[in-house]
Amino acid sequence: MRNMTIKEAHSWASSFLRQHHIDQAPLEAEVLIRNLFQWNRSQLFLQWNQPFPIEKWEPLKQWLDQRIHHIPLQYIVGEQEFYGRPFSVNPNVLIPRPETELLLEHLIHEADQIWQDQPITVVDVGTGSGAIAITLALEKPNWHVHTVDISNAALKTAKKNAIKLEAQVTFHHGDLLNPILESKMKVDLIVSNPPYIPTKDLDDLMPEVKNNEPMLALDGGEDGLQFYRQILQQAEKVLHRPGLIAFEIGIDQSEPIVELLQQKDSKWKLQIEHIKVIPD
Ligand code: GLN
Repeated sequence: MRNMTIKEAHSWASSFLRQHHIDQAPLEAEVLIRNLFQWNRSQLFLQWNQPFPIEKWEPLKQWLDQRIHHIPLQYIVGEQEFYGRPFSVNPNVLIPRPETELLLEHLIHEADQIWQDQPITVVDVGTGSGAIAITLALEKPNWHVHTVDISNAALKTAKKNAIKLEAQVTFHHGDLLNPILESKMKVDLIVSNPPYIPTKDLDDLMPEVKNNEPMLALDGGEDGLQFYRQILQQAEKVLHRPGLIAFEIGIDQSEPIVELLQQKDSKWKLQIEHIKVIPD
């Protein structure tokens, strides 16, 4: 172990991860080493042929050990990039996903068509790391962005991210839209990436996900649709007209969710004009 260069340490860490069946071993080894020194990529390559400091072996080995025990890389280094910004993450919050970046891209596009540059009020249901709410607040500085979470630990993480990224977001503690209903506030846009995995499928998830990410953020109830149902029920009272609802949904959920939406007249009186499923 002694007298290795950074490059050699990287290649050693990379083979170690590969032996333990970690898919993107060289990339993950690189991320771990960069985080160990708080270096960006170019700093890493500038130091490539320098000696790997002895005192960094122990922390590196501990991280590698966590990784081969399926702790997600993002929880080890405490960060995930989302929409080009670094979000702090920990096991109290879901690691923000690239699919959710897509949701935001489409949502911003749709909202621009309806409201152009008007200042609208938005609520993100289930804030987690704050990825959605904070990104919207930064991308759309004149929007009033609210977000709710039932988990105090998640709210703490999201607030920390809002401070770090200098985003103006109003945080509420409670279940789904309850705090918004209680304050009698009305919003133009509801966005949510709720838990949507049917309870019986949770066991099939990768160990990284099922043993580490919060069940509260994943478990969508018996059919995976529980939270869409509840949010839509509450939406009737919370949403201004015209209003927009943007959901991230799971694979194979578009049909049942479109059906849920189509029950509008009988139950929810949302008077839904357009339903768009992306990608269709
Ligand atoms: N809104 C957060 C995200 O999209 C958390 C979602 C959740 O915990 N289900 O990352």
